[in-house]
Amino acid sequence: MSIRTVGVIGAGQMGNGIAHVFALAGYEVQLHDVKEEAIDAAIAKIDKNMDRQVGKGAIDPAEKAAAIGRIHKAVDIAACGATDLVIEAATENEAVKVKIFEAVAPHLLPNTILTSNTSSISITRLASGTDRPERFMGFHFMNPVPLMQLVELIRGIATDKETYDTLLEVVNNLGKTAASAEDFPAFIVNRILLPMINEAVYTLYEGVGTVESIDMAMRLGANHPMGPLQLADFIGLDVCLAIMNVLHEGLADTKYRPCPLLVKYVEAGWLGRKTGRGFYDYRGDTPRPTR
Ligand code: NAD
Repeated sequence: MSIRTVGVIGAGQMGNGIAHVFALAGYEVQLHDVKEEAIDAAIAKIDKNMDRQVGKGAIDPAEKAAAIGRIHKAVDIAACGATDLVIEAATENEAVKVKIFEAVAPHLLPNTILTSNTSSISITRLASGTDRPERFMGFHFMNPVPLMQLVELIRGIATDKETYDTLLEVVNNLGKTAASAEDFPAFIVNRILLPMINEAVYTLYEGVGTVESIDMAMRLGANHPMGPLQLADFIGLDVCLAIMNVLHEGLADTKYRPCPLLVKYVEAGWLGRKTGRGFYDYRGDTPRPTR
C-alpha cells in the first residue's frame, strides 16, 4: 500500500516535528490538535525550524515553501481521519489516546493505517480498542524529529505484515532508519534511557551530586552529548514520569519506581523546557540549576 496523505493528531513538541519531516518528504499533512492555537504555534515553529535548515543550506527556499504548502490546519479531526496514515502524537495518557482513536474512527478510510507515537503504552491494548488491530502499529519518533535518525517500529500482537512493510518504506522515504521493537513497556530506547534518567534524579534526591555535577559527570565521564537532567527537561518531566509509571506498573519491578523528586517537580508544574522550569530554570539568558 502506498501512503500519500498523513493525519497528525496532537501538535505539541512531537506533532510539529512529525508534520515537518513528512511535509519535507512530499506527503500531504493534516495537522490537528484539541487546541486550535497549538496548531498555529506548531506551524509557526515548523516555519522557523525550516528557515534554520535553509540557513544551513540543508534545503532550498523553494523546497521549504512547497513543504509548508503541504501542511494543512485540521481544526476538525475528520480531515485527519480521511488520510492513508494517521499518527497520534497527543499527550502521553492512555485515556486521552483511547478517546482520540474513538473520535477519529468514523472518518477513517477503509485502508487507513492507524499509529501511535506513544513512548511507552501497550500497542496491542491501544489497537484492541479500534476496528483495525491488524492495521495498527507503534510508530515512535525521537525528539527533535527533524534531527534524530531513529524511528522505532512496534508491532502489536495482531499487526499484519503489509502494515509493517508499508511503515518501513515510509521510514526509508523520510531518510530515517527503523529499529523493530517488541510490544513490551517502553520498547527499546525508553526502556533503557528512562531508568537512567530516573537514577540521575535519585542521585540528586539523595544528595550524591548537584544538578550541574550530575550532568557534567555524564557528559564528560560517559561522553553523553547531554547530561541526564538536561535531557529530562528536554523530553518533559511529565513525559518522563508517565514512562516510569508504565514501566513500574507494566513490569511490576520495584527497580522502576519513579523517584519522589521527579513526582514533586511534575506536581509543581515544573515540566522542563516547555514550561520554562525543570531541573534548570530557562527564564533568564542562560539555564540555571533549580537545586
Ligand atoms: P506535548 O505535551 O508537547 O504535546 C501534546 C499535544 O497533544 C498538545 O498540543 C495537546 O494540546 C494535544 N492534545 C491533548 N489531548 C488531545 C486530544 N484529545 N486531541 C488532540 N490533541 C490533543 O507532548 P509531546 O512531547 O509532543 O508528546 C506527544 C506524544 O509523543 C506522547 O505520546 C509522548 O510519549 C510521545 N513522545 C514524546 C517524546 C518527547 O521527547 N517529548 C519523544 C517520543 C515520543
